[in-house]
Amino acid sequence: MSLRFEALNNLSSPNRTPEYSTKITAIFAENVFTYQTARQFLSDEAYKSLMGSIKSGQKIDRSMAAQIANGIRAWAESKGVTHFTHWFQPLTGTTAEKHDSFFTLKSDGTPIEQFEGDALVQQEPDASSFPSGGIRATFEARGYTAWDPSSPAFIMDIGYGKTLCIPTIFVAYTGESLDYKAPLLKALEALNKSAVEVCNYFDKNVTRVTPTLGWEQEYFVVDEGLFNARPDLVMCGRTVFGHSPAKGQQLEDHYFGSIPERVYSFMRDFENESYRLGIPLRTRHNEVAPAQFECAPIFEEVNLAVDHNTLLMDVMTRVASRHGLRVLLHEKPFAGINGSGKHNNWSMATDTGVNLLAPGKTPKTNLMFLTFFVNTIKAVHDYADLLRASIASASNDFRLGANEAPPAIISVFIGQYLTKVLQEVKERVGDKFDEQDESMLKMEIHRSIPELLMDNTDRNRTSPFAFTGNKFEFRAVGSTANCANPMTVLNTIMAATLKQFKKDVDGLIEKGEKKEIAILHTIREYIVSSERVLFEGDGYSAEWEKEAESRGLANVKTTPLALDAMVTEKAMNLFTENNIYSHVELEARHEIELEKYIKKVQIESRLMAELATSHILPAAIKYQNTLIENLRGLKEAGLGEDACTRRTAIVQKLSTHINSVSENVEEMIEARKRCNGLSDTREMAIAYCTEVKEKYFDNLRYHVDKLEQLVDDKEWYLPKYREILFLR
Ligand code: ADP
Ligand code: MG
Repeated sequence: MSLRFEALNNLSSPNRTPEYSTKITAIFAENVFTYQTARQFLSDEAYKSLMGSIKSGQKIDRSMAAQIANGIRAWAESKGVTHFTHWFQPLTGTTAEKHDSFFTLKSDGTPIEQFEGDALVQQEPDASSFPSGGIRATFEARGYTAWDPSSPAFIMDIGYGKTLCIPTIFVAYTGESLDYKAPLLKALEALNKSAVEVCNYFDKNVTRVTPTLGWEQEYFVVDEGLFNARPDLVMCGRTVFGHSPAKGQQLEDHYFGSIPERVYSFMRDFENESYRLGIPLRTRHNEVAPAQFECAPIFEEVNLAVDHNTLLMDVMTRVASRHGLRVLLHEKPFAGINGSGKHNNWSMATDTGVNLLAPGKTPKTNLMFLTFFVNTIKAVHDYADLLRASIASASNDFRLGANEAPPAIISVFIGQYLTKVLQEVKERVGDKFDEQDESMLKMEIHRSIPELLMDNTDRNRTSPFAFTGNKFEFRAVGSTANCANPMTVLNTIMAATLKQFKKDVDGLIEKGEKKEIAILHTIREYIVSSERVLFEGDGYSAEWEKEAESRGLANVKTTPLALDAMVTEKAMNLFTENNIYSHVELEARHEIELEKYIKKVQIESRLMAELATSHILPAAIKYQNTLIENLRGLKEAGLGEDACTRRTAIVQKLSTHINSVSENVEEMIEARKRCNGLSDTREMAIAYCTEVKEKYFDNLRYHVDKLEQLVDDKEWYLPKYREILFLR
């Protein structure tokens, strides 16, 4: 029996109903070394040192590190932990760990448990198998991981083992970063610096600005048996073949519908694990496509939110198999059905408790809001290509612009109300400095931005970057992505824009303008120079593509080309001036992203060829033989010509598709060989995109999907869409 039918027979695996405590607060963060736990397990001195490091980046000295390590171990052991690991986010896109035990032997052979300060602060994982884009080869340097005290240690509870995880950055000995976290921390610091300076125009008490992130994770859940019977899901995370089911999402009956019981039990289970890890999940619901769901937490400081998202993806994946289920995080697991994204809700908060993207209550705070709001628009306008590059990946290419996801054109949606406000500022403030400015400042701005704007903002689901009342929502981020990359770019471009803003305003002040007037005029100038990025209409429409082109907005549809933005002179300047990436680091990252793209397309292409040859063609040929047998029988029995003609027509149809499949497979393999012969990575990535993917993937799929409809269901080895999507 084929795996498909075995899986179908075994579908009704029992619900696992774990025990839950009634209150989330009772378990929340019980596996995290929180401030409270630190207070409990650390001496006053050690606690102060740790807090100093978290709050203002002070260095922790060796003896303190030893004390802190001891405290963390004492806490971890009280929870049954035997091992520890540095937990980091290499550029592979997953998380990495290497476990060591606390157990060791003293020089005389006495066994003891210990966790030294040095082991907390720094480790040297064998870095040679992580992508470095040539950095290590060039510098012959090793890599090390270094503790990030701003993200708390936590305990991973896997199977029977519990491991203490220390969040770390991963860098080469020559200083280049080899992970997602190191540049993110730098970008957050850059933003803090520029934003505080701008805040101080309005409020001298602000000393720290913290960017915030609330991600919304979309995903599919499918039965594990059916998943295992689809080599494409196993190897690529998406189906490379599969005919659309008779019923897809056209009835629109899934969104916010009731959650199927087996999935519900899985959700409760992974939520429970997440709460214990301090991930503040808040929302869960069905998404638009069948078998698609979403969860979202309460927003947090960006670094922590990023860690929590990567942790969550890991937890979901592990918990799913306890329930005989599989989570698909891929951006587009099923053709013809909505894909998955990861909206990044982003804002900035001051240490005085103000959300800088929330409209204010007084003229002064409203001017502050307008400042940050308009600077964001300007940042997106000036660096749209970098934002586009930050979300580029082989898997996200299947989703962007696929009529259900934001297009590859970066634009900003702000809603009618704020559009009007910006128009007013633009028209009424004018180029000249005159008496109108004062009244504009005092009254108009305030009157035109109502306090309860949040409830008034209209929703536009088709925009890649939308203002939603008190935050921006970057929607083009893919569901598999590590949010760190888009967050690094967004916070860096914002930092750079605010820095320029400060310069521009100070310039006017030096010329004798009053501070508020100088701010207002700079805001106006920014509105004028970036308003072409504003778009309120349907981002999925063909008209928008045309309109965007006439506005001069870029529409780069494929990853290899989108990545070019990472290494332009403008990007090099931006990232070096703000101390985020050196030239070498940017070149390396560009190279790594291109390589990832090539490998993904290569693997998919190989798998398609293999599936077509070993699964599809045998099934089709077998069925064709049955028909030929039947035809022979009909002829022998002297049965009507009509019957024979009909049978022949089916055989011919099968023949056509069988031939096309095998032809496409052969040509695709040849094309791959030609690509592999190219020595330049960028050229190879482009060739894989145009010569392999674009030329053969859809074409091959077309014929395979036709065969799926023609061939006897009993002979078809791959679970069909209707089974994967609707059976649970
Ligand atoms: P939606 O209607 O888009 O689902 P929600 O109110 O549910 O909006 O919020 C989505 C996400 O945005 C949540 O994770 C939420 O915590 C987050 N969010 C809300 N305010 C902010 C903010 N100031 N900064 C960052 N994220 C925020
Ligand atoms: Mg949202």
